[in-house]
Amino acid sequence: MNRALSLRRLLALVLLMIWLAAALGPARADETRRRLRVPILMYHYISTPPDDADRYRRDLSVSPEQFEAQLRWLRDNGYTAISLEDVARALSAGTPLPERPVVLTFDDGYDDAYRNAFPLLQKHAMTGTFFVVTEWIDEGRAGYLTWDQAREMAAAGMSIQSHSRTHPDLSRGCDYDCLVYQMLGSVQTIEAEIGIRPRVFCYPAGRYNREVMTVLEHVGIIAAVTTQGGTLHVSERPLQLHRVRVRGTTDLGDFAWMVRDWRG
Ligand SMILES: [Zn+2]
Repeated sequence: MNRALSLRRLLALVLLMIWLAAALGPARADETRRRLRVPILMYHYISTPPDDADRYRRDLSVSPEQFEAQLRWLRDNGYTAISLEDVARALSAGTPLPERPVVLTFDDGYDDAYRNAFPLLQKHAMTGTFFVVTEWIDEGRAGYLTWDQAREMAAAGMSIQSHSRTHPDLSRGCDYDCLVYQMLGSVQTIEAEIGIRPRVFCYPAGRYNREVMTVLEHVGIIAAVTTQGGTLHVSERPLQLHRVRVRGTTDLGDFAWMVRDWRG
């Protein structure tokens, strides 16, 4: 037998096997585990609660004066407001972030987001992420944003993202069709109204489970925020980002500690 020929055959066979292994093997994801410390602030109302407000409304309300003092503190301490897509990319691909990143999020799409939060963010050259409940806007509910307001905010660099269609507890009694309706439905509505497809989700009442996260992935969501407290995020769990709850009773000392010193 011709020795050179059989060696060539062997080499060809080895090359074929290497090619097959590369072609058929699992896609090699970037499996580097990353840890990031980014305070993701969670706000609800940016307004002074009415006199007859109950304790929940008071707890969820930060006055415009308090909010502006917090924005000043962030600016004076060198913080840069970034988006949650930035956080997702930093976790998945290691893209660099500013030295002191912070994310400002606003849940539920109250109209004081437009009246109070939006102008103050613009005044201090910061961006915010607003989680809207799309049917509440579609219905024209009093006290909530309109699509015109959301479009104006998006055009000025604010991020409009999904908080579901009707704000149900997604972890209980919401089957697959319901999950698709709540997630894909809200994503498509925002895309149609704003012209930008949402990539970030906020769990209504912070409730979620494994199936909820699976459907989110299918819908193309790359990051989701919870109501679990903390500032540390891990690349294995981009759909379980922690947040820093800012309350009506949060003074500037508490705020500084949570943003700068919270190690959880
Ligand atoms: Zn909510």
